[in-house]
Amino acid sequence: MKVPVSDYLQQVLGECLADEGSVCDVIPELARVDPDQLAVAMCVADGTMYTAGDADSRFTIQSISKPFTYALALADRGERALLERVGVEPSGDPFNEISLEAGTGRPDNPMINVGAITTYTLVGDGDLGAQERFERVHAGLSAFAGRDLAVDEAVFASEMSTAHRNLALAHLVRSHDIITCDPHEAVTGYVRQCALLVGVRDLAVMAMTLAGHGRNPVTGVQVVPEPVCRLVLSVMATSGMYDAAGDWMTQVGIPAKSGIAGGILGALPGQVGLGTFSPRLDRFGSSSRGVQIFERLSTDMGMHLMSSPLPGVAAVSESGVLERDGEQWFQTVVQGPIRFVSGEVVLRALSRIEPGPMPVVIDVARVASVDDVGRRMLQEGVRRLKLDGHRVLLIDPREVLADPGADATTDATTGEASTGVGALP
Ligand code: GLU
Repeated sequence: MKVPVSDYLQQVLGECLADEGSVCDVIPELARVDPDQLAVAMCVADGTMYTAGDADSRFTIQSISKPFTYALALADRGERALLERVGVEPSGDPFNEISLEAGTGRPDNPMINVGAITTYTLVGDGDLGAQERFERVHAGLSAFAGRDLAVDEAVFASEMSTAHRNLALAHLVRSHDIITCDPHEAVTGYVRQCALLVGVRDLAVMAMTLAGHGRNPVTGVQVVPEPVCRLVLSVMATSGMYDAAGDWMTQVGIPAKSGIAGGILGALPGQVGLGTFSPRLDRFGSSSRGVQIFERLSTDMGMHLMSSPLPGVAAVSESGVLERDGEQWFQTVVQGPIRFVSGEVVLRALSRIEPGPMPVVIDVARVASVDDVGRRMLQEGVRRLKLDGHRVLLIDPREVLADPGADATTDATTGEASTGVGALP
């Protein structure tokens, strides 16, 4: 059997026909592109890739690079240092507007050009040379993509020859001491970053890396820490789609970033990474057919961030007293992903156990995943049961509750971790 996802993507491409607008002419070299190219790629959490259309086409990443440079700067300098110099408020203005906070001169967010140029200068240590800083950006974006990305020298040179507005923006933030290096150096590095060549597969992997807590699903490399991704995805959700960010969030609901070469990247947290390419741009500067593809995927496949699924399984599948050979124990079987809401259900089930010597078995073998809050809640449950006088046996073959604070020992043959009581039936 063939998984039908690629066929579905092919069908979507065939139905997103309204190709209005024209290719970007702000960068002369981009106007030479074949405007009819069309491609989509989807990367799921384990790195499996589905594509349709011209998936081998290469195009420059342009503004889609901005969230990734922001991620690198956050990882290198920390959230506070970044916030001092670049805000996180949607500007509602076009991408190349002078959107600076009154008084401080701080750019509104890292997704508009003036914020992205500033962000570029915040990657790596303060004393990095121009060449080393670009190398750090290049290596970082390549790690997100899982392969070494090349620079399109022709597009780079072409954009540099017309970069007057970006240079003006850089001089403005330099005049406010928001950037401290030479404005020309900042723009050169930023424009080079925008000229990195990608395909839709790269966009999908980069997106899934952000959506998957910073770990590249193909190479397994942890590119940036998880909290960085949360921040970057939030800024993409509020400011990623130029001045159409509100329409995008309500209609599509996938944190995204578009670029004027015709790419769009979408990252649905914990679920999928998406990349599209079609060069004709709408009036906001985003790929017309790319926007349509995202609208279709969001509607058809229920991918809107705000339509989060109801819990698929009850967190506690069984809970009650069992008896064998005259011995009684209380058994609770936990399943599914454990976060605050499901952790609360488990703790409520455990709270029904009367204090006393009856052993308690908590079986977490079918727990799909547990976040830090869920883990701490279950550990606290174990601790309180012990205070109530119970012996606690934890069935945790995959050690999802590692270090449960209950003297865990692991059976070498079954891999079952047990606490306190060894020989329950
Ligand atoms: N390199 C382009 C610029 O800075 C990127 C613009 C975009 O993709 O929105 O103007």
